[in-house]
Parts: sequence; C-alpha cells; structure tokens
Amino acid sequence: MPRPDFWKNDKRYYDLKSYWRNLFGVNVHKLQIDAGFTCPNRDGHVATGGCIYCDGRGSKLRQKGALPSVSQQIQSGKKFYKPHASKFVAYFQTFTNTYAPVEKLRSLYDEALAEEDVIGLSIGTRPDCVDSEIIDLLSGYAKKHHVWLELGLQSMHDRTLRLINRGHNFSQFIDAVRACAGRGINICAHIIVGLPDETDEEIIQTARTLAGLPIDGIKIHSLLALEGTLLGQMYKNGSVKLMDKEKYVSLVADILEVLPPRLVIQRLTADGYRDIFLAPTWAMNKLDVLNSINKEMERRDSYQGECFVK
Ligand code: SF4
Repeated sequence: MPRPDFWKNDKRYYDLKSYWRNLFGVNVHKLQIDAGFTCPNRDGHVATGGCIYCDGRGSKLRQKGALPSVSQQIQSGKKFYKPHASKFVAYFQTFTNTYAPVEKLRSLYDEALAEEDVIGLSIGTRPDCVDSEIIDLLSGYAKKHHVWLELGLQSMHDRTLRLINRGHNFSQFIDAVRACAGRGINICAHIIVGLPDETDEEIIQTARTLAGLPIDGIKIHSLLALEGTLLGQMYKNGSVKLMDKEKYVSLVADILEVLPPRLVIQRLTADGYRDIFLAPTWAMNKLDVLNSINKEMERRDSYQGECFVK
C-alpha cells in the first residue's frame, strides 16, 4: 500500500508530531507533569507492590524533595521546549492521574489549562480508575480543548496481567474504552512488548484487538528491567529472559502493520530510567531502536496499516 496522504509525513507510520501539525497547523509538544498522585496498585487499594516492572516513582519525573506546582512545571517545560513548539499539551504522567476526588482533579487540570499556549490535556491512568464522574469531567474539557486519556493496558491477556500484577483485567479496559466512546475524549492505549511468557501470537493478538476498538492512539513500550523492581530481581536471578533487539524490532513492525492507518503512534519504545537501568542494553539507545524499526519497515516496503483488517 502507498503511504496515506493524510499523514503528511515521510515516515512509515502516523506519528504524534505529524498528527498534531496536521490538526493544529503548528508544532505541539507534550509537557510532562508530576502532580503528586499515587497509585492504587501500590497503596493497597487494589494491591501493594505494584506492577512487577514499576520502580515506585511512577515515572522518571518523580524526584525527592518538594514538588513544584503544576503551573511551575508547565512554565519551566515551556521555556525548554519553546524553540521547538508553539502550543503545548499538559501531560499528567506520574502514577495514576485520575486517582483522586473529582474536585481535586478539576483543580489540577484547570491549573494546567489556565497556562498560556496550553491547548489540551493528556491524562495517564489505569482502566480501573476511570468512573462516570471522571469521564463527564474530561468530556466537558473536550468541548473546548484537545483531550487524551492514556490507559495502561500492557496486554489483553489476563494470564499476563496477573503475572505482572497489574491489578486489573482486560474487561475493565474494554469497559473504560466503551464508557469514553463518543464523548470527545481521545484514547491512547499503552502496551508492552516482551512481557514474560507471552508468545509472538499473543502480542499480535493484543494489537489486532486494539485495532478493532474505538481508540485513537497507542504507545508501545519495550519491557525494561530496573533496579529495585521485582522484574529486576527476576532478571538478576535468571528467572526471566528479556527480548533481544531484533525480535523487538520485528514485532513492532508486525504490530504497526495490523494497526489502522488513522491510529496515532505516540511511542515505539521505552524511555529514560538511566539511573536504575539494568537491561536490555539495546533499549538504552532509543534513536537506534527507532532507526531499526524504520529500516525494518523499509526492508518490508511496508507501512502502518499494511495488514489492517476492518
Ligand atoms: S499502574 Fe503504573 S504506577 Fe501503578 S504500579 Fe503499575 S506501573 Fe506503577
């Protein structure tokens, strides 16, 4: 198939930067925010200990010491990225960013949207932390702003979700997606490639299933073993094997091929965590991983959507 005209890029997939330039006519950048949330999968509400790969900081943003306010974080992020973008989306990234009473959420999201040149929100959360009140809140914002809800799924297979201690199942993800459908909220699903005991077929099955759902974007992560996590321990004692780069690149290319051409690709590999990184070594070189995925798609003369079945 040829590259779809509406992408207006020279890539083998529909990346977020191109999507935003097409939508808004300018460069848009996501500003990462740590608003001080926690996670029900760590604090005992759902489970303790969290996902086996979670380092307990929720993201690389969480540092020791007092947390700057949402507006302070946006202002310093804007200064840094202003040469490259003129509009911004406030990305509530760290831990579970809908895990609070709705009035607290409203106050934090309002604070972000009050900042100049912030045109929208991207809210990272878990499928079991999205109730009707929160969807009403986000849907209200979506009438005037650009809104994404980023839902961590990781795999559609409940056996895997139990193994990695996600604390939710696939049907809870489906319920959250259905509840948001038609409410003006863009959904971005997060998946991980290389989870323990998953076959290639199971990984592709997750991608094919997502391809048939009313979602708008995807983030694909490689599984990282980090110091201080259960997965890190398993890696060190040899009870888990991490995927090699060639396999990862090939599977990501397979995934891109089965996704619809309209789906926005927000990420193709994991990022950051240099201070506690254990393995796989190749994942440290993000640019090399992205280049390798591109080369693989070129070798196949293939584009995102090549094998998409409606
Ligand atoms: S849902 Fe996210 S923050 Fe919570 S334990 Fe899992 S990886 Fe950590």
